Amino acid sequence: MKTQNLLPVRKDLSKMPKVGDIIEYDTMCRVENSKLQRGMNFRLNNSTSVVLMSTVHGAPYQDSIQNEGRILIYEGHDVPRRNGNIDPKKLDQPMFTESGSLTENGKFFNAAQKYKNSKRSPELIRVYEKLKPGIWVYNGIFRLTSAWTEKSEERMVFKFRLELLDEYKNDNKQKNIKTDFSRFSRRIPTSVKVEVWNRDKGRCAICGSENDLHFDHIIPYSKGGSSTTAKNVQILCSKCNYSKNDKIM
Ligand SMILES: [Zn+2]
Repeated sequence: MKTQNLLPVRKDLSKMPKVGDIIEYDTMCRVENSKLQRGMNFRLNNSTSVVLMSTVHGAPYQDSIQNEGRILIYEGHDVPRRNGNIDPKKLDQPMFTESGSLTENGKFFNAAQKYKNSKRSPELIRVYEKLKPGIWVYNGIFRLTSAWTEKSEERMVFKFRLELLDEYKNDNKQKNIKTDFSRFSRRIPTSVKVEVWNRDKGRCAICGSENDLHFDHIIPYSKGGSSTTAKNVQILCSKCNYSKNDKIM
């Protein structure tokens, strides 16, 4: 029987971000207990894997979001840039380092292969998405379900398919509300998030707080409110968010 890949036990679970939370780079590093200097982190601190992604214009890799945020196609990473004049974007993405150990590409690739051959449960990965320099959104926990290589502009790149894990699927009613709440945030495209962030100046639209911020649908998604226009999206702190939710329910 497969053993479930358990998430690390953290004493202070209240500090773990919820899907759709907007967090600063420093907070993200604190949550992950790491400086997060690279985008791919297989089993960070020997626990859950963490990847950082970006779909904004000019991002270094071609990451994409499908199915309203439930599927991510994440690109592998290049060889490190050295002093020489070879552009890493012209070289195949490596499976191994120069010393012959697996790169992060290689570690994630092998984990996906093992899952495919039913030798283990899927690797669980926490995903953060960059909104703008220093500002990130937590996208949730994903399962790594497949990996492959493909040609991109005359070189070989790795691609990883990540599928959103339903965190509260079998949990009690109260937590299901939270899941629904999270799903609404998830469906907001990054371009809308960036527009809203700039308009609201990174603050709660009601009280001006700069802490515990999330994206909120002004007219709820469940009542037909749109996710695809900044007009229906605002930034709220968790306090204002919950008091708004109380009124709706
Ligand atoms: Zn507020």
